[in-house]
Amino acid sequence: MAINENMSNSVELLGHYGSDTVHAQSAWTSTSRDLTEDKLARVDKLLKMLASEGHHTPFEKSGLHFLVNVDQATHIHLLKHRVGVSINGESARYKELKEDKMMWPADWSGVWKDKLRMYTEEGNKLYHEALEYFSPILGRKRAKESARFFKTFNSQISMDIMFNWRSFYHFQKLRNSPDAQKEVRELAEEMLNQVKNIEGNPFEKTIKAFGL
Ligand SMILES: Cc1cc2nc3c(=O)[nH]c(=O)nc-3n(C[C@H](O)[C@H](O)[C@H](O)COP(=O)(O)OP(=O)(O)OC[C@H]3O[C@@H](n4cnc5c(N)ncnc54)[C@H](O)[C@@H]3O)c2cc1C
Repeated sequence: MAINENMSNSVELLGHYGSDTVHAQSAWTSTSRDLTEDKLARVDKLLKMLASEGHHTPFEKSGLHFLVNVDQATHIHLLKHRVGVSINGESARYKELKEDKMMWPADWSGVWKDKLRMYTEEGNKLYHEALEYFSPILGRKRAKESARFFKTFNSQISMDIMFNWRSFYHFQKLRNSPDAQKEVRELAEEMLNQVKNIEGNPFEKTIKAFGL
């Protein structure tokens, strides 16, 4: 079976929709969406005011779409976000996890890292063995969904996750924070880095408005 060991989770920004101007125009719908030079010069002030006063619905008009590869604790943290977040995950019910993707805590070394490696490898071995053993007895479907009980918490899965800007800000506030677990904090930080590095910086003023 293929083994894929990673030091950390990974993020890829698949795509995005919207911009600072889209947020501003959404707010200006209440008067006029027409853009003038004068209004364009006021976008940063407007976005700061919307962000600070909690008028956050205009920020729902943008989308940020990521593909992530995450351990099970981070998987659960992501699923906790219910509003304005759309998630699809790789399924161990529908397919055999042929590739044993796993991560090691970056701050572990020495004997405990070796113990975790042995434990993970044993779990993966038992997963594949149980799958083969139970397939003719329980059927392939039930064998797949139950053999995964051998998978360890550092096993990684792929998830496709899309936020609107409002829910992304909420996620950043909770997860890109010292209170959050290191793995999800680093994931949130990398998501923000990738958004900050989109060519042309379409969300520059929104990022500033929320102080991110
Ligand atoms: C540091 C930290 C520790 C945590 N520890 C635990 C833990 O020990 N156990 C655990 O189970 N979870 C834990 N969580 C998860 C946490 O309880 C939330 O489930 C998670 O952060 C998602 O936050 P949210 O509900 O604000 O986000 P979303 O579900 O995306 O909701 C966004 C916002 O919409 C509003 N909203 C959503 N649903 C409702 C509703 N039903 N009624 C009213 N308003 C609503 C709220 O304003 C909410 O902030 C922890 C989170 C953090 C950041």
